Amino acid sequence: MIKVNDNFQQLPAVYLFTKISRRLAQYREEKDVIPLIRMDIGDIPGPVPESVAQAMHKAIDDLASTETFRGYGPEQGYAFLRDVIAKKDYQERGIDIDTTEIFISDGAKCDLGNLGDILSKECKIAVMDPSYPAYIDDNVIDGREGKFENGKYTGITYLKCTFNKDFCPDLPQSPVDIIYICSPNNPTGSVLPKAELEKWVNYARENHSLIIFDSAYEAYIRTPGLPKSIYEIEGAKEVAIEIRSFSKTGGFTGIRCGYSVVPKELKGVFSDGEKVLINSLWSRRQTTKFNGASYVSQRGAEALYTEKGRTEIKEMIDKFLMNASLLRKMFEKAGWKVTGGIDSPYVWAGNPYGMTSVDVFETILKECGISTTPGSGFGEEGEGYIRLSGFNTLDNTQKAISRIEEWLKRV
Ligand code: PLP
Repeated sequence: MIKVNDNFQQLPAVYLFTKISRRLAQYREEKDVIPLIRMDIGDIPGPVPESVAQAMHKAIDDLASTETFRGYGPEQGYAFLRDVIAKKDYQERGIDIDTTEIFISDGAKCDLGNLGDILSKECKIAVMDPSYPAYIDDNVIDGREGKFENGKYTGITYLKCTFNKDFCPDLPQSPVDIIYICSPNNPTGSVLPKAELEKWVNYARENHSLIIFDSAYEAYIRTPGLPKSIYEIEGAKEVAIEIRSFSKTGGFTGIRCGYSVVPKELKGVFSDGEKVLINSLWSRRQTTKFNGASYVSQRGAEALYTEKGRTEIKEMIDKFLMNASLLRKMFEKAGWKVTGGIDSPYVWAGNPYGMTSVDVFETILKECGISTTPGSGFGEEGEGYIRLSGFNTLDNTQKAISRIEEWLKRV
């Protein structure tokens, strides 16, 4: 028999979203049920922006001709995309990030998992509770979790995020090495203001910690003054890696492209005391284990930075934000505890009836034919909440709202 990675035994048997998909498949098989509207989904309804489709068609034509053919590309990504990211996402916003600090990926999820390759197994990690489940699962697979006791891993520090504190996490009681911060947060939709990020950057500088800043939803931030990048905070380049994705910001969930920023100021140390640039280490990892995102997807991503691309994305995101704000208003009116729906595609709603997240999920599914995501799947602090997303058509959102409003009158 083949010896396999024991750490998998420590994982929950099924990934949260797979569990929901299975339940929904079962619902669809049931007789006389209300036609399903999916409000749980973290995927965009499409289509991709026209500028992206055109750029990708052109890229396919490039591949079809000997003169313009591209084979293996640079593992770190093509210069045409790295340059435009450095310029438009950072330098033009007054942030000093250089092309060589940008690494193109096939999406944020892969980079989040792959980063574990360059970090010591000894690192103590901290995650916001509730948070995107991949942060914990990635570290469980790498063996940084300790024991599973009372629904939690002993080796992981859970940073409580509560409604009363606008879902901003408190600093940990004992030192941690790696801190995952997601802003706008999935699932709560809350955005950490500048003062909060400063608190974390200062903590990381004092404790020699690394912040993994997941800003997959930065393009949804519309409130002036809220930070879109951790590098808006002084000193952050010494302590933070920023992970970004074109999935929800450019309609790339199927195309697959994103990027990570690994600043040259970021230093690591081997157990023998030898120091190393994290940027070099990540580059070494990528050149060994990754052969780059596809040329076609990178040309598509480049198109997002054109004037037409920018306008198209803004229109797309405006629609999702509108849906989310309608959902938010409905729950607010009904007296639920609500965050998100502003500066975020997600609405996070805590029921006032003392029901568990799973009960609310099941009840709304049965009574309204609407799927949500149970908050408890994102961590203990998510109990009592459900997550809904604005990634839908306005028509579906309005239908969902009128069904839920009818149900709310009955509870
Ligand atoms: N990070 C967060 C917070 C997410 O919600 C998601 C996807 O839902 C990802 C990362 C993964 O994004 P990608 O599609 O780029 O892999």
